[in-house]
Amino acid sequence: MKRIRSVEDLKRMIYLWSIPPIVLALGIYSLLAPHLAEAQGFYIMASRLLLVWYTAVWLLIYRKRFIRFVELGTLALLTFAHIATVYDGIFHSMAQGKEPVLGISAIWMPAVLLVFFLILSARPALIYSLTIFGVLLCFGVGKLAHVSHENLLSLCQFYIAYIVYIFMFYFAHYLFRLFAELENVKKRALADALTGIPNRHQIDIWLEERMEQRSPFSIIFFDMDHFKAINDTYGHKVGDSVLQELAGLVQKRLSEEQLFGRWGGEEFLILMPGPAEDALQLAEQLRQAIHAYSFLAAGTRTASFGVTAFRSGETAEALLDRADRGLYQSKADGRNRVTMT
Ligand code: GH3
Ligand code: MG
Ligand code: MG
Repeated sequence: MKRIRSVEDLKRMIYLWSIPPIVLALGIYSLLAPHLAEAQGFYIMASRLLLVWYTAVWLLIYRKRFIRFVELGTLALLTFAHIATVYDGIFHSMAQGKEPVLGISAIWMPAVLLVFFLILSARPALIYSLTIFGVLLCFGVGKLAHVSHENLLSLCQFYIAYIVYIFMFYFAHYLFRLFAELENVKKRALADALTGIPNRHQIDIWLEERMEQRSPFSIIFFDMDHFKAINDTYGHKVGDSVLQELAGLVQKRLSEEQLFGRWGGEEFLILMPGPAEDALQLAEQLRQAIHAYSFLAAGTRTASFGVTAFRSGETAEALLDRADRGLYQSKADGRNRVTMT
């Protein structure tokens, strides 16, 4: 399954997976109902209308078109169908001298409430579903005296379950939003505010993970040359934009398994699988790319690199220290170069 990144994504997935069985249920009903003695023309027509509607809804949601219109249309149709089936179950059958039958509306009630909570946000959905509950309760209460003990029991159960579902969905909705927010906060805590790439905290987590896996990996540590001069000459804002451009420039040249983050200031780190020779090759490509690039407000700039491979058994500190020594050596040798240690 594709990654779900937001509440909207999750809603879309729920719609796409739950509508086909609903269409199937409606299809079966509209095919078989005409052969049943007690089936009413109105319900057969309504089920066919819903069948067409849900098919169109699925296609529109799949193509991400008119989603809000589709949702509100569904809310209106579903509310009408829901109230009508409960009304019919209680009143119509009783008017014919039969006991109330809640069959279909009772079976689908949790799904109907779930749709209310998916389409509306938590509070409006709570108010909306309680209002519908109030309407349905009015239908039932007036008729309680005429209901047999057995059916009274199931009618009461229906109303109580209705309330339980409303509150369950309300709290589930609340919890889900909370998790989504937490996910967002987590993502922001691990990203660098200026460049948007992962920050040092994220790099530490990567390092820890890689070291546990014990598969060979290497790191590239690099630092802009004479960066202080950019700040001094053009101001801090230009310095910031150079860092942003640099992050974009490097990121675009990396594959998914080459992890890139801002270590701090004008220092960056790349963590990648494979031996130091592979990292050396990549670092050399990046050095040339940075040198060849002209920064919008600061022109041509260079960076110096330190490259090293992880040696099993060593600490992260030792690994970083060795890469830093390579970087220092590149600076000492005249900058704009790569040193492998
Ligand atoms: P070297 O070639 O030896 O690396 O020299 P340098 O000037 O690049 O290095 P130095 O460490 O002397 O200066 C780094 C400067 O980077 C100092 C600091 O003010 C600046 N800096 C650090 N973080 C930021 C930032 O987020 N934005 C801006 N504009 N400047 C920053
Ligand atoms: Mg520097
Ligand atoms: Mg520095």
